[in-house]
Amino acid sequence: MTQAPRSRWWRWRPSFRRDRDLITVAIERGADSGGCAVCSVLEARERRSLWILLREHVLDPGTRGDWNRTLGFCARHTSALCATATGMGQLPGVAILFGDTTREVARRIGTGAPLHVWRDCLECGREVQSEAAHLRRLAQQLGDAGWTAQWAPKLRLCVRHAASIMGTGMRTGMRTGVRARPTVPLADHLRELAVIGGGHDARSLRRTLATLQAALLGFESPSGIPALPLWGCGQCDAETTAVTDEGRRLFQEGATPEGTLCRRHASLLLDRSAVTPAQLAAHYSAALQAAAGALEERRTKRSAGLPISCPLCDFVEARAPELAASVALDSEAALCLRHVEVALEAPASAGAFGAAHIEALRALSHELGELHRKSAWDAREEPKGTEQTSWIRAAHYLSYDAGALPLARRE
Ligand SMILES: [Zn+2]
Ligand SMILES: [Zn+2]
Ligand SMILES: [Zn+2]
Ligand SMILES: [Zn+2]
Repeated sequence: MTQAPRSRWWRWRPSFRRDRDLITVAIERGADSGGCAVCSVLEARERRSLWILLREHVLDPGTRGDWNRTLGFCARHTSALCATATGMGQLPGVAILFGDTTREVARRIGTGAPLHVWRDCLECGREVQSEAAHLRRLAQQLGDAGWTAQWAPKLRLCVRHAASIMGTGMRTGMRTGVRARPTVPLADHLRELAVIGGGHDARSLRRTLATLQAALLGFESPSGIPALPLWGCGQCDAETTAVTDEGRRLFQEGATPEGTLCRRHASLLLDRSAVTPAQLAAHYSAALQAAAGALEERRTKRSAGLPISCPLCDFVEARAPELAASVALDSEAALCLRHVEVALEAPASAGAFGAAHIEALRALSHELGELHRKSAWDAREEPKGTEQTSWIRAAHYLSYDAGALPLARRE
């Protein structure tokens, strides 16, 4: 059995002094990583947490109860879970969890209970807690002259985390609890990153893009859902086409859109050749320069806005009802979980469509059960069938549009 990925600071070492608690040590390790110190901590936390879920907690009744209550994870963490499971060879664990979700969704549709898709992702909750604890401690340490003298030269933060440390409650909703703003220059390295020289080959351009995205958007959860086979949500497909056209329009004739494209939409536009990597790099470079400027402004002005919202996410949000209405809903229509929730809000569509959808979910849950059963040693001689890809279809069903927001109203 492989070992759980653990940070090295769990080991006792002589340098481990009383005045440096585990949170501080984690931040220092993060500062040593070369990227955003807080993102580095969060990335390691996520890896550990998903590993432990799959290796140890997947059969725990309390964990399964929580999983059923929340219908599993948000799209981002569903994708990260698949990546972790694939790396560990733990697909049966994923089959169990996805099977739970499909049965629970079918039950809720059957009884007319609200779906509440992605309202309460447990991993997001743990991440928010960990992020707040580390930012609070970092802000405290930056008030300590000795610590700051030692660590500030190495300290790098992404735009979001730098903004939080500069004493704001921006989109992340974090409160550091420390009023005084640190005098450490947190935006200088962002400015340096934003300057991209010419003469890139394709590979170094991709690296530059990844660096700019990490500085602007924070760490990236691993994505582990194979592209095929699809679930085939008609509304997601319509959305994708509309977003690609809008992206092409935003970048046409050398223009660079305002804001910061999210990773999902950036890679969609790249895949569909709606933008070139060089155009994207120029966009991110401009966005990072604007963000560094706004961070500097925040030293004196609390309200300086950060240009971090994605113009294409904004576009989808504004056009969502229109796009949903453009797809005919009949009992044959395949929809992802996110769009099912919206479809069921219209009473006219709930009847035949709901019944057909429950059938589709029952079939999927049966296949997931078979995938789990056939992964046992006793069933090793049995021929494999379509159940082998059931986890991929389920992952697409649960997170078709990874990173997207819930569409139905929050209650
Ligand atoms: Zn960060
Ligand atoms: Zn989540
Ligand atoms: Zn969809
Ligand atoms: Zn976006």
